Amino acid sequence: MQQETFDGQLNLSHELGWHDIESLIQNPCKVLILTHKNPDGDAVGSALGLQWVLKRIGHTVDIIVPDDSPLYLKWLPGHQQIAVHERKSGKNIPQLFIDCDLIFCVDFNTPERLGAVEPLFSKSSKPVILIDHHPKSGDFAHIKLIDPSKGSTSELVFLLIEKLGLSEYVGPESATCLLAGILTDTVEFKVNCSYPEIFETVASLMRLGADKDRINNEVYNMHSADRMRLLGYCLNTNMKILPGYKTAYIALTKSELNSYNHRKGDTEGFVNYPLSINGVVFSVLFTEQDDHIKLSLRSRGNFPANEFARKYFNGGGHKNAAGGRYFGSFKEALDRFEIVLDEYKELLLSEK
Ligand code: 5GP
Ligand code: MN
Repeated sequence: MQQETFDGQLNLSHELGWHDIESLIQNPCKVLILTHKNPDGDAVGSALGLQWVLKRIGHTVDIIVPDDSPLYLKWLPGHQQIAVHERKSGKNIPQLFIDCDLIFCVDFNTPERLGAVEPLFSKSSKPVILIDHHPKSGDFAHIKLIDPSKGSTSELVFLLIEKLGLSEYVGPESATCLLAGILTDTVEFKVNCSYPEIFETVASLMRLGADKDRINNEVYNMHSADRMRLLGYCLNTNMKILPGYKTAYIALTKSELNSYNHRKGDTEGFVNYPLSINGVVFSVLFTEQDDHIKLSLRSRGNFPANEFARKYFNGGGHKNAAGGRYFGSFKEALDRFEIVLDEYKELLLSEK
């Protein structure tokens, strides 16, 4: 099959990949959509937005995720049908891999991001279409629709749907899922969206019935009081600022999380707060998990959070938003962080 790189709206005249996709979805078939572990709004939004359209044109579609979504995404239309691998109940996921005709991968750039689903994926010989906006997106797909200049995979899914002439099959459910992905991955239009075309896509989704007010309400106004108090604790007591590195970090142990009745998704967004401090260009949130320390990294300007995560913390992502893991004690993770930070001192201090 032809390898294809998608250049968003600029190179749509380059038809090869489109024709392959068109022919793959011409007749009703069984489609799997896969996305990454610790799914976020863009992962779930792009998967569900695509699923609604493929179903409406006659395909049988299943979405598989390695682990469950945070609560603030569970209201998305169609979410309850998603097969969650770690739940070990419900749909027979290995059988879905055997039975499917075609696999879409959305919003991730290496198969390792599939966690426990990765071995099933690697064994499969079915055609794979990757839709993603991460840099360094991998060679594991037959057709690749990749555009790191876009703020979200959900936007790319919509551009694909338009290009395939399927916009009429985008209903309010699909439009709402895709807009949720765009809104969350751009941090409410604050990052990775300094190009006018994104607002044309948003306008199209609103015309197709996307419920923007519901997205805002469900994603941002449904937090628990405990989560709000945990945020207060982080900012007031826990946040460390390293002015000599233009860096701030928050480190939360399990017992701190437990004392605020932590639920999955509660710390989402915390890492953005230190970046709003004048003179801070790099912010990291450490959270203690069962068998590792999770890092969420955010930066301003040209500081490459993804390179830092890739080099030192088994991770990756975007330049200004990346994730990683450290296998060891909490203290070791923080010690390592402060040591490797020194290697980036010059770069950090050169940022405005
Ligand atoms: P978060 O801080 O929200 O967990 O992740 C931020 C960004 O980094 C997301 O775009 C996510 O897809 C990416 N990311 C998080 N963890 C990893 C990782 O372990 N490897 C790679 N390649 N990307 C990651
Ligand atoms: Mn994304």
